[in-house]
Amino acid sequence: NVPSHLFRQAVEQAALAISITDARANILYANAAFQRITGYGQDEIVGHNESILSYRVTPKLVYETLWAQIQRQRPWNGLLVNKRKDGNRYLADVTITPVVGEAGLTTHYLGMHRDVTEVH
Ligand code: FAD
Repeated sequence: NVPSHLFRQAVEQAALAISITDARANILYANAAFQRITGYGQDEIVGHNESILSYRVTPKLVYETLWAQIQRQRPWNGLLVNKRKDGNRYLADVTITPVVGEAGLTTHYLGMHRDVTEVH
């Protein structure tokens, strides 16, 4: 039985960049690693769409596949070329998981990514 403050602390301190969005990918929350990797502070990023991270070179088909998958309530994992606040590009290994409410509808998305620029 894990208390909710422990959930929050664990997510906040996770090594992966973690964000929670609404059903249209507008960011509601970003953890410390997300802020460290992207360069955006919590106040700068909340309210923006995840597309703020796009370096605009990832093929459109990748995003279409991503959305088709998560709209079917299936998780998606793949590589996206992302842009930090300072304009520098990095390769992100991203996993997006739909958060399904009690009514069976997708209410939010959970995004998790890490910088794999060095690996590839
Ligand atoms: P968009 O206007 O988003 O459209 C691109 C295509 O995606 C469209 O042709 C459409 O088919 C589809 N699409 C987009 N939005 C919707 C929607 N609401 N419903 C149905 N289909 C849709 N993108 C990144 O580049 N980097 C990230 O790190 C990243 N992390 C994400 C994390 C989460 C949790 C989620 C939900 C999304 C994330 N995205 C990320 C995707 C992001 O929201 C954008 O879809 C993407 O960046 C492309 O933006 P765009 O403005 O070029 O195109």
